Amino acid sequence: MAADGRVAVCPGSYDPVTNGHIDIIERAAHVFERVVVGVVNQPVRKAKTLFTAEERRAFLLQATDKLGNVEVDVFDTLLVDFARKHGAMALVKGLRAISDFEYEFEMNQLNRKLASDIESVYLMASPEYSFLSSSGIRELATFGADIEDLVPNGVAQALHDRLSRDGD
Ligand code: ADP
Repeated sequence: MAADGRVAVCPGSYDPVTNGHIDIIERAAHVFERVVVGVVNQPVRKAKTLFTAEERRAFLLQATDKLGNVEVDVFDTLLVDFARKHGAMALVKGLRAISDFEYEFEMNQLNRKLASDIESVYLMASPEYSFLSSSGIRELATFGADIEDLVPNGVAQALHDRLSRDGD
């Protein structure tokens, strides 16, 4: 499908979604006409996910419920093919630190080679979320920290339930 206006994809594994992700999605939704949150089914750079793709999608759907121009879809294809499927002209990523930059810089070159018509756009993490990552949240939850303020409604409880079940 050809790019048809200002559609952007916000890709990620979202295992689970955090308030940092939502901040990026909301900001992208202000800039673009439509935002498709792309949930990677089986992330290449990560071990098995804690939540299934459907569970991760459900958390995102609930957290973006109030955002009328945001949709959520799972994919297990090349990111640029997923973007094309949705008619997206841009990939929007959040940048927290130098470590994000190095990875994103490499991915940018690869994606650009595959699809020079799809632009990558980077939003700087908001200061209040710049320390927040899904892996950090999983680690905090494992040791019983209070993470209610760091994740959308329902995610803290689901994490607690999943971790206590897996620990049995
Ligand atoms: P994580 O790195 O937390 O496991 P993902 O792989 O799901 O997250 O990342 C999806 C996108 O969201 C990436 O572009 C990542 O840089 C960005 N991102 C993740 N957490 C934050 C945050 N706290 N602030 C801004 N961007 C973020």
